[in-house]
Amino acid sequence: MMKPKRLESELQDVGTFSHPKQNLEQYATTPALATKVLHLAAVEFGDIEDKSVIDLGVGTGVLAIGAKLMGAGHVLGLDVDMDALSECKENLEMYEPELEVELVLMDVIELIRRYDDYDEQESDESDDDDDDDDNNNGDGKRKDYVWPKADTVVTNPPFGTRRKGADVAFLAAAMKMAETAVYSFHKTSTREYIQKVATKKLGAKSAKVVAEMKYGLKNQYGHHRKDEVEVFVDVWRIEPTCKMKRDGNNDEDEIFEQNLRDLAANIEELQLSARERKDKHRSSKNSNNTSNTSNRR
Ligand code: SAH
Repeated sequence: MMKPKRLESELQDVGTFSHPKQNLEQYATTPALATKVLHLAAVEFGDIEDKSVIDLGVGTGVLAIGAKLMGAGHVLGLDVDMDALSECKENLEMYEPELEVELVLMDVIELIRRYDDYDEQESDESDDDDDDDDNNNGDGKRKDYVWPKADTVVTNPPFGTRRKGADVAFLAAAMKMAETAVYSFHKTSTREYIQKVATKKLGAKSAKVVAEMKYGLKNQYGHHRKDEVEVFVDVWRIEPTCKMKRDGNNDEDEIFEQNLRDLAANIEELQLSARERKDKHRSSKNSNNTSNTSNRR
């Protein structure tokens, strides 16, 4: 297994958000923090090596890439932002050979909202197949949703400062997806609350803070007055209640595989247009250097 020093140096070159989006709370995990968490997960708990891993809100990919380098099996990165996924793809291509991480565009918050509706109101009744959720008479409920699954889910979620409840929505989704363990970052100031939500509301088997970190948030957005804001962050390891009954449930597997294939095709298309946009952006920047909006150091 890769030593921490080596992992950290391998992660140094992972590009961060070139145009971070404030409403999505896009803050990249530093190589040092990513290393700390992944090493702990791998060595202390055996949750990475040869395990399938989902990085929820993958961003530009530092956690997914780290997991892969630590010997994870299948790694899936989910994000709502196509630009982030494109940058993540570029980061994966930097490695030789290219690292294999599956990337899927997904609005985790929206999905958890819909799924919860379904959970509450539809109880256990199984409906006949209807693979077009737009047909669900406009109430936005989706009856056939099958969550992606992995042994381990790692997430540096939005902390919910811009969009209230985003942190808990991510946690709820992570717990739907994890077979064994969720690693999630939350502000230390919300420790009691997270403990309660995880165990009482979301029914976790266990929820423990396994590391504490000081997180230096660079002033990448206008609304911070100081250059760097320090935030204390807990790393949680949460065991969801029940194992998913995937065995013998081929229908669900099939729907899920099909979902992935559709989304993968979609992503390639979108990526092409993102590239074109970028090229255009570059050439217009070259011909007009008065509009330099880059926020890189
Ligand atoms: N995992 C990366 C990025 C963390 S920032 C890292 O550790 O460096 C949080 C990420 O969550 C961003 O990439 C953002 O685009 C994503 N995100 C925010 N809202 C989301 C949503 N509703 N669904 C999916 N991803 C979302």
